[in-house]
Amino acid sequence: MTATTHTTNWHTLREQVTYPTGLLIDGRFQAGADRLVVTSPIDGAPIAEIDAADAGDVDRAVQAARRAFEDKRWSGMAPADRKAILIRWAQLCEEHREELALLHALEMGKPAREAYNVDMRAVIRTISWFGEAIDKVLDEIPNVASSALALIEREPAGVVAAVVPWNFPLTMAAWKLAPALATGCSVVLKPAEQSPLSALLLCQLGMEAGIPDGVLNVVNGLGHITGRALGEHNDVDVLTFTGSTAVGRRFMEYSAASNLKRVWLELGGKSANVVFPDADIDKAASTAAWSIFYNAGQMCTAGSRLLVHESIHDEVVAKILSIAQEMQPANPLDADAPLGSVVSHPHMQQIHDKVVSGAAQSGEILTGGAPVLENTGGSYYPPTVVDNVDPSSLLAQQELFGPVLAVTTFRDEAEALALTNGTQYGLASAVWTNDLNRAHRFARGMKVGVVWVNCYEEGDMTVPFGGVKQSGFGRDKSLHALDKFYDIKTTWIELE
Ligand code: NAP
Ligand code: MG
Repeated sequence: MTATTHTTNWHTLREQVTYPTGLLIDGRFQAGADRLVVTSPIDGAPIAEIDAADAGDVDRAVQAARRAFEDKRWSGMAPADRKAILIRWAQLCEEHREELALLHALEMGKPAREAYNVDMRAVIRTISWFGEAIDKVLDEIPNVASSALALIEREPAGVVAAVVPWNFPLTMAAWKLAPALATGCSVVLKPAEQSPLSALLLCQLGMEAGIPDGVLNVVNGLGHITGRALGEHNDVDVLTFTGSTAVGRRFMEYSAASNLKRVWLELGGKSANVVFPDADIDKAASTAAWSIFYNAGQMCTAGSRLLVHESIHDEVVAKILSIAQEMQPANPLDADAPLGSVVSHPHMQQIHDKVVSGAAQSGEILTGGAPVLENTGGSYYPPTVVDNVDPSSLLAQQELFGPVLAVTTFRDEAEALALTNGTQYGLASAVWTNDLNRAHRFARGMKVGVVWVNCYEEGDMTVPFGGVKQSGFGRDKSLHALDKFYDIKTTWIELE
């Protein structure tokens, strides 16, 4: 990952940063029925106590979004005018890039430098890209008999609820908010309980940019209260979710039990790097290491499985182990922290429990495998590599959402493909080979939404992102993301 140099003193900025703490409803920060304490995984210290929404607060937010949608203050605006406001919002994010990056680090423990370089770049690009795109989307007039005129028009779907996780808190929010707002929908966002502060500041900037009152609302709170109330609300038209497969399942249930709202799910993964002997071994190994250790492995696309040809196993694993040594966790406010903390103490404990029970089932821990920096009060887990993992065992099948790599060897291409596809997930995977035919053949055989060939995590805003199988359905990014928030209306006009 290329990073620009950045010289902020994040420790100093921590003492100065300010952000809203209320619920954002109808253009105003308001009190909620509940309170929530946000704790930093850096040191276990409380960062803020904020308002949290119960079902009644959620209802107020949905009603505000509905009023705003129906009176067309945003949905009826010319796309070029919505575009100008979205672009202004992206500019304000650039102006507040340091505070927003710092809040990432405080809330969920990633290095502030990376939040600044990677997350904030993605957020700014996402908002400006969908702003730029929206006045270039055209409707359709099909070729029908001359006795009729048919129109195929895209209409904004209405009130969108967006429920997002904490791992890329603002990027995931922006992937929902930007296309939904661009189409003219009104939105109610529920950030993860661990990362509401960055989301509140982001949306405050949206209001400052000129998004009208009621069009963009934020309800902080707990998943089983606030998230559930959105899922079950009878006046939400579309629910767009990023998070775990288990919670995605709940949203399907909420929809079925309420108004059959449209549900879009971006869920978990168990992605693989598949390395053939004819690949650039050095690049494959270093990218594979980065793909699982980056963001402390808390990525839906984390390359949590290494499938490596038996003839190059030792060479690839040795290289990964040396990178693991370099990527040890440190305070994410330190300018040169290679890795930060994981999101919370309970999450760290879950990762560790799965490493212990997984390795007891199958595999040998080569490095890592226990929490570190415990005297800081924070939640730090080191890069962990488990070798010789049986493909049917826990470490090869379950998403750990931590910096834990499961290594399995294969003998031939057919076995490699069967292993790649041998989980419930189908989000992404990478194949490493310099054989052009094999690259295409293998890519076609992979049951995933995103294939990388001789790279990992590459792409830009023009390409869709999302999974198949139990990794979900619907796509974020690209013009395809707009489809989630449009209804298509057919009008048939008889001319004779
Ligand atoms: P999570 O537990 O599924 O939570 C995601 C969101 O759902 C949070 O806002 C959460 O609120 C809410 N929620 C939890 N339980 C709920 C319930 N019973 N009803 C309604 N809402 C509920 O996921 P996470 O731990 O935050 O994030 C990790 C997961 O996200 C991983 O599985 C990862 O693979 C997935 N992910 C997928 C993608 C993708 O694009 N495919 C991207 C990033 C992450 P609380 O925070 O208050 O619990
Ligand atoms: Mg959670």
